[in-house]
Amino acid sequence: MAIRQIRIMGDEKLEKVCRPVTEMTPRTQELIQDMLDTMYDANGVGLAAPQVGILKRIVVIDIGEGPVVLVNPEILETSGEQTGQEGCLSLPGQAGIVTRPNYVKVRAFDENMQEYELEGEELMARAICHECDHLDGIMYVRHVEGQLFDVGDEAEEDLEEE
Ligand code: ZN
Repeated sequence: MAIRQIRIMGDEKLEKVCRPVTEMTPRTQELIQDMLDTMYDANGVGLAAPQVGILKRIVVIDIGEGPVVLVNPEILETSGEQTGQEGCLSLPGQAGIVTRPNYVKVRAFDENMQEYELEGEELMARAICHECDHLDGIMYVRHVEGQLFDVGDEAEEDLEEE
């Protein structure tokens, strides 16, 4: 178990477009495990590789239903709309209101490079969109309606539903 340092907004790694994973190596599997450890340690719902300074298209998510690993995720389909509070481990203590699709279908590879598809609604859909944005160098603040607000020190990447 290794906790990696989470990059904070303003770090240039958070503004880059990440590279696809072409081959699963022990090193990349270790990165995925570290990302999960780091996300759980920070009480987050999701974490993308650039948030720990690695420019690879890897996302981990756990909305309380177990870990999900998305390697090279590609959003295939979205529908509906949800408007709610969103935060990010790379911008601790703050949140904003963001509108996202209410349903997302994504194709990705798992930690063994097995391709699969995943459907998510509500919080899961929000988390998938938020984390996939990170892989293109996009912070959620770009989508925020109105002002960011302070949610105190305990605020994690809670990506809360309204
Ligand atoms: Zn984030």
